[in-house]
Amino acid sequence: MKLAARVVQVPPSMTLAIAAKAKAMRAEGIEVCNFSAGEPDFDTPAHIKAAAKRAVDEGKTRYGPAAGEPKLRKAIARKLQTDNNLDYTAENIIVTNGGKQSLFNLMLALIEPGDEVIIPAPYWLSYPEMVKLAGGVPTIVQTDAATGYKITPDQLASATTHRTKLFILNSPSNPTGVVYTPNEIQALAKVVIEKDILVVSDEIYEKILYDSAKHVSIGSLGPEIFTQTIISGGFAKAYSMTGWRVGYLAGPTELIKATATIQGHSTSNVCTFAQYGAIAALESSQDCVEQMRQAFAERRQVLLDSLSAIPGLGCAPPDGAFYMFINVSKTGMTSLEFCDELLETQHVATIPGIAFGADDHIRLSYATDMTSIKKGVERLDKFVRSRL
Ligand code: GLU
Repeated sequence: MKLAARVVQVPPSMTLAIAAKAKAMRAEGIEVCNFSAGEPDFDTPAHIKAAAKRAVDEGKTRYGPAAGEPKLRKAIARKLQTDNNLDYTAENIIVTNGGKQSLFNLMLALIEPGDEVIIPAPYWLSYPEMVKLAGGVPTIVQTDAATGYKITPDQLASATTHRTKLFILNSPSNPTGVVYTPNEIQALAKVVIEKDILVVSDEIYEKILYDSAKHVSIGSLGPEIFTQTIISGGFAKAYSMTGWRVGYLAGPTELIKATATIQGHSTSNVCTFAQYGAIAALESSQDCVEQMRQAFAERRQVLLDSLSAIPGLGCAPPDGAFYMFINVSKTGMTSLEFCDELLETQHVATIPGIAFGADDHIRLSYATDMTSIKKGVERLDKFVRSRL
């Protein structure tokens, strides 16, 4: 069968593929330490589940508006005003099938063939593929340890051409865990305004911060940058709702309407009763978010302590999200070789950095239980020592 060129150029999602492989190995009885997908291991908080169950019992099981339940759109707009100082109303919000679909819809609504989208590397692996699927051209800007894996304003300015439409900012970042400081965000905003491009700020990890890290939403830094900003967010990471598939996009009304048209012809509304769970998540106490954050913080510390004792690995403490991005170049292996052999010989699942545009690194997600973390690091230690 001759498939469309647009799909032939796109590889399958490696995070999903390795996570599925690790789960399949576990189902075969193999004790796998799974550091692959960024999926919190906690159960969704009981009050969120109860709200969705109630919605099912109340008959909220039918089609709804493509852009989302009005009550949820309002609740998201309120959250963006209160938490992020962004002046949105319900009209500026579309509820999507996870954060992923919010970005995918955005690309379809915005990108014309040949339009360029600036993506700092290391990047979340789906960004470039979404751009390509929409007919656009990803402009990858390499960052490294010297700038703390952050794109600098100069790099952003020099990567911008007359074809540049959009810049993807992700702070806290997947896969590096880097959080841009308010000053750094301000400096990037200045370039976005000067170059007259748009910025989409992927804020899915905004609640998962450590030590003194602070999350600042780029759109909150003034009226000019606000009109050039689009926000992508979701419920998966902060509320442990990965399988619910509820996310959102916030931005100028015209753009949001366009994404609703796309959604109206593709997936229609997000599962109606799942949206009632999301309303409960926003409108109830946020203690559950903080409890999970504290658990991630403890795991992060354990990992940092034990990784620093393994020779040959380079790893900076992440400021946010739940990933360790580890330089494995001293082993002389490519990231694929490293991760394949680690999984085959030690049953430790990790993601090769090549998927994120950094072949000398691997990514460990610590959204997994402490026992697996401790066992997994022992095995990693053994593996690395045998390869140095
Ligand atoms: N975003 C998570 C990750 O990077 C989940 C898998 C995916 O959507 O890629 O692991």
